[in-house]
Amino acid sequence: MNPLLETGDLPAFDRIKAEHIVPAVEQTLQETRLCIDRLLEPDHDFNWQNLLAPLEETLERLHKVWSPVGHLNAVRNSPAIREAYKACLPQLSAFDTELGHHQGLYRAIKAVAESPEFATLDTAQQKSIEHRLRDFRLGGIALPPEQRQRYKEIQQRLSDLQSTFQDNVLDATAAWNKPISDAAQLSGLPESAMALARQAAARKELDGWLLTLDFPSYFPVITYADDRNLRAELYTAYTTRASDQGPHAGQWDNSTLMDEILALRHESAQLLGFETYADYSLETKMASSPEHVLQFLNDLAEHSLAQAQAELSDVEDFARKQGADHKLEAWDIPYYSEKLRQQRYALSQEELKPYFPDRRVVSGLFQVVQQLYGIEITERSGVATWHPDVRVFDIREADGSLSGCFFLDLYARPDKRGGAWMDSYATRLKSRAHSQAPVAYLTCNFSPPVDGQPSLLTHDEVITLFHEFGHGLHHMLTRIDTPSVAGINGVAWDAIELPSQFMENWCWEREALALISGHFETGETLPDELYERMQSARHFQSAMRMVRQLEFAMVDMRMHHEYDPAHGARLYTLLDEVRKRVAVVQAPAFNRFLHSFTHIFSGGYAAGYYSYKWAEVLSADAFSLFEDNGIFDSASGRRFRDEILAQGGSREPMDLYRAFRGREPTIDALLRHSGLIPASEVTVDA
Ligand SMILES: [Zn+2]
Repeated sequence: MNPLLETGDLPAFDRIKAEHIVPAVEQTLQETRLCIDRLLEPDHDFNWQNLLAPLEETLERLHKVWSPVGHLNAVRNSPAIREAYKACLPQLSAFDTELGHHQGLYRAIKAVAESPEFATLDTAQQKSIEHRLRDFRLGGIALPPEQRQRYKEIQQRLSDLQSTFQDNVLDATAAWNKPISDAAQLSGLPESAMALARQAAARKELDGWLLTLDFPSYFPVITYADDRNLRAELYTAYTTRASDQGPHAGQWDNSTLMDEILALRHESAQLLGFETYADYSLETKMASSPEHVLQFLNDLAEHSLAQAQAELSDVEDFARKQGADHKLEAWDIPYYSEKLRQQRYALSQEELKPYFPDRRVVSGLFQVVQQLYGIEITERSGVATWHPDVRVFDIREADGSLSGCFFLDLYARPDKRGGAWMDSYATRLKSRAHSQAPVAYLTCNFSPPVDGQPSLLTHDEVITLFHEFGHGLHHMLTRIDTPSVAGINGVAWDAIELPSQFMENWCWEREALALISGHFETGETLPDELYERMQSARHFQSAMRMVRQLEFAMVDMRMHHEYDPAHGARLYTLLDEVRKRVAVVQAPAFNRFLHSFTHIFSGGYAAGYYSYKWAEVLSADAFSLFEDNGIFDSASGRRFRDEILAQGGSREPMDLYRAFRGREPTIDALLRHSGLIPASEVTVDA
């Protein structure tokens, strides 16, 4: 028997061999197809039990076969695994396309939605049916044949254009570099950046140093390089990539692609009956309308602009005192800001690290969530994993019943993809035939313990761990029995970061830090003096950061909402309008940052960039209940669990939020957490 097909409660990682993968995935795909065909055999009335329950189960089974493969490819990569993984991708994507355009399945599910049975189903079952029908519609299945054909053509063309957009950005980024032979030209750069530049030069068999437009090379130059001309040169090259401006003007130019992408998005949205692409994008999100989003962004701008202006004046004053006898340009601001930050707070992550040994942080994290949600987390031993450092834990309820299980893989390794993430192996499922608890993988890339010294985390890494654990809890503490809307499944894009960002708040609280910090040698918790500096540094230039994000979010929403075929995209006209309203730092006329804005032109953030701020508002507002009632208040914790974490995608996120908080979210808590003034404290004569 093939271990990938034994869908037990945990994957048998010790027995999965690369050569199993392709046959196992092929076999499962074939079985899934057969299962769906059988479900759709004619001559019967469709209902939940004979169609949707088995559909949910068969798709969950496919997920459980594929999930360990994707996971191994990410955390224990090898040529054999990678090859097998890649060989499966086209087959899985073909299956997805097939399923998304399956007329028979669409008609059968529609029949259930229109049958008298529908009203008798539970909310989660109803929601899962609504989601399936919605996704079918958004895929164009309900269009008349001619329009459906046009819709398919547009999707194909868009996918080509979006990937060319990304290629142009990559090519333009790679095309530019600057060899440096005199170290004096790089004065101000930290040693890590110097080493990176040396390495880049060596890779091209050059002496000295090589600067490139890759972010890890660009960022230290713009932040630390004392040579103003060098900063200006890199800034110019960086912000004109893939455009009609700058050192490579006209090469890899994305201008016409951007126009066509916006035109086709608009046309496809209209084919589906939406007024604009922005309306289409919000169909699957928590925010109700483009106007609603713009109002939200404007509100934040109104409360941030004055302070952003003050922060800019602050850095300008500082620069003058440092001897800058010129106007501060876009390439000067990060440089003087960093100098000011260092002078004012002198706080480095290195100073905090000894207080955050990983074992202490993990056990503190468990204590926090155990108190909040009334759960018990215990380590499970003897489980086969992909690496000896990986630990496995069970989450149990007060009555001892199992809620979920997770793999915790904290340390960086050469065969492991970078970053931190949470992913699912199994989703909660309860049907007449089966029942299973959710299983999650929590993956980080912290430095491993060396020579008997524990792994010491930076405060940023502590926040990362809490963030990913928040996603994990959302997945594992669900009480929804229908997998497609249980845990993180079926949750709106702009609501998915609520549980994760919410958990981050505990990393800034004195009482919680007493649990999660402890000096690795003395056991002493984080000293007050360090805590105070950490808190002040947190708010440094927060309004300037806020208005920058608002500028991106507004231009993204407006370019999709105000698109007019008669006038074309008008991208930079719109950007100018937005900047006049919310920007405090004036960008030079040659700046073409939209030409490399892959999030919205080739990623999934089109008419969705606001989600970052949206989730911050939700999580800050949710946490403010704990600020009022106590950060370990278990009644508030249970409410968050019952109304949000337990519900998954089974109901509209705004309904869930209202049930938890007793009202809709307001921006006040985020403003306060950002060191800005909440609306309620603004007085007329202030
Ligand atoms: Zn996240």
